[in-house]
Amino acid sequence: MKRLLLGVRALMSVAKDNPGLVKAQYLALSRQLPMMYFILLTNTLMLAGTHYAVAPRWLTLYCPLIMTLFGVIRAAEWVRTRNRPRSPTQMLTALKRTNMLAPIVASAFTAWSLALFPYGDSYTQAHVGFYMAITVIGCIFCMMHLLPAALATTAVVNTAFVVFFASTTISTFVATAIDVLLVSIAMLVILKAQYGDFTRLVNMQAQTAKLSEENLKLANQDSLTGLANRRQFFTRLDSLLADARAQGTRLAVGLIDLDGFKPVNDIYGHSVGDRLLYQVGQRLSGLLDEDVHLARLGGDEFSLIITRVLNDEQLRTFGEKVCASLREPFLLVDMPIQISGSLGIATFPDQAFSATDVYEHADYALYQSKRHRPGTACLFSTAHRQQLNREGLTEQALRRADLEREFYMVFQPIVDIHSKQTVAFEALARWESPELGNVPPGDFIATAERVGMVNRLTLPLLSKALNAAVHWPTGIRLAFNLSAHDCGSEDAAQQIVELIKRSPFDPACLDLEITETASIQDLPQTQRVISRFRELGCGISLDDFGTGYSSLSQIHALPLTKLKVDRTFVTNLHLDPASFKIVKSLIALCQDMQLECIVEGVETAAELGALKNLGCTRAQGYLFAKPMRASDIRGWLEGEHLAEVLAV
Ligand code: C2E
Ligand code: CA
Ligand code: CA
Repeated sequence: MKRLLLGVRALMSVAKDNPGLVKAQYLALSRQLPMMYFILLTNTLMLAGTHYAVAPRWLTLYCPLIMTLFGVIRAAEWVRTRNRPRSPTQMLTALKRTNMLAPIVASAFTAWSLALFPYGDSYTQAHVGFYMAITVIGCIFCMMHLLPAALATTAVVNTAFVVFFASTTISTFVATAIDVLLVSIAMLVILKAQYGDFTRLVNMQAQTAKLSEENLKLANQDSLTGLANRRQFFTRLDSLLADARAQGTRLAVGLIDLDGFKPVNDIYGHSVGDRLLYQVGQRLSGLLDEDVHLARLGGDEFSLIITRVLNDEQLRTFGEKVCASLREPFLLVDMPIQISGSLGIATFPDQAFSATDVYEHADYALYQSKRHRPGTACLFSTAHRQQLNREGLTEQALRRADLEREFYMVFQPIVDIHSKQTVAFEALARWESPELGNVPPGDFIATAERVGMVNRLTLPLLSKALNAAVHWPTGIRLAFNLSAHDCGSEDAAQQIVELIKRSPFDPACLDLEITETASIQDLPQTQRVISRFRELGCGISLDDFGTGYSSLSQIHALPLTKLKVDRTFVTNLHLDPASFKIVKSLIALCQDMQLECIVEGVETAAELGALKNLGCTRAQGYLFAKPMRASDIRGWLEGEHLAEVLAV
């Protein structure tokens, strides 16, 4: 019984905790109720008309007038609010009001029409019966989306109808009453089923909408960090850029790339790597306000869109703040993990007009930061723009270049200070482009690396170097520079291995130079590739040592044979105590690790003197010789120049 009552109650009330359903009901009713009032009032006035001559004035004129006035006001209210935005509460109130009014209105109209029954002849009486039976069907259909109102109306009108007409004992009216009773029952059953379908449909629509909203969110969200993803970043960049363009304001894009993330991933595993990325996202979010939009582009790359108008100086300060926060250790495993982040920033509309331009400039600034000052912020400038143009020209010329004809190798002696002998030559590439003239290797190697062409360049260069070295006296070594990309792919390394095997030059006399920054980018991969070179008998030198950011343990993991101390520490080392100490400890380090140490960039006798005092044995630099053509090597080896320099 209690359950039945609860069921009836649920059936007779508005679903207030289902705003989607309330809205759908409200929309349906706002279309259907004016139509319902139109039918109800027209029928009412016609019934009043057929009784006008026989019934009293208050029944045929005043009551219909009051009912018409009421009906018109209600219909007008629905029409008026139909196209206006309504709050969920307003819609709920309107539905509740309709529910409440339905039985009252039904009772009033029923009472009025039954009051007319005693007047007139059989025709007018039949009209009353027809009016009630058919009008209520029209009204129920118009209210079917609000079940309580429809049920109340059916109950009121049809109960009154059945009871009243059955009690007349006139057989036609009793038959009509039975007819109406059956129709009413059928209508109630159908109405309930229809209402159930309607509710389900609305709920399904709501669910679909929710799902597609969730899908949209997922499609735009990075699942690991919860930040916006790459797709959302570019959509947002387009729209924020359009705003900036319309308002004539400045906008900045920042690209962050973590330094040292890969080793963390390799050493501690992917789950620690994932947690680190999550924490980086959290830390960056904590640093920003609503004017800065953060996204994760993928891997260890994050991006910022800065809509707050900042000048260059403020942007630099902001960028340094971001980088400084990333330098703070992250607490993930037992010990703190230290990484850093390089940041490239570009602005609109200064150097770039489109989203692609701003993005590419920021990427270029990031590249500069990673290359020259990892862990810091770099702002794209006019100088970068010129450099980019130059690189663009270099890139095009490089793509068109005839690698065999336009490139050649020069060789710089590496000398033994004590034996006063040339022990090796470092091969250095030169490019004489028919379009651009002599392009420095710093430029074309960097461009080739950036556009992924360096592997194609390495093979002909190495081949040229090996071909030249075959003619040297036995025992003289050849040093050849490899780029990070050469060690970064199994395929590239394989081609190099095959070339070395094919050459008649003894691989045991070949030293391959790799740079520190390049080698630690993907330590396990570098390790694998280097081991293959070592198996051939080649030596491996760590080039530009001291300029990178690798830790001793990482260097220790590589099977190296030599370290080359970078030129920056050698320049004026006899005058600069800091440089002096660094070179001293690097030489000591090499002795400890049983590596041969070569000091690069020796330009003056004073520098050489200081190096001798530090126990340095191998050196290279303009003081001894500049890089020379292959054809000059014989003359150099036979000449007395080296002995003269070293005699000092
Ligand atoms: P690196 O490997 O450090 O080469 C030494 C650079 O220092 C050479 O510049 C050399 O000419 C220069 N140098 C030697 N002694 C002195 C000196 O006493 N004072 C000064 N100021 N400079 C000195 P270069 O030939 O311009 O090469 C620049 C860089 O380009 C090289 O630096 C190397 O990283 C890269 N490179 C050159 N050839 C190749 C190559 O065939 N393949 C690859 N991957 N990189 C190459
Ligand atoms: Ca080198
Ligand atoms: Ca070097």
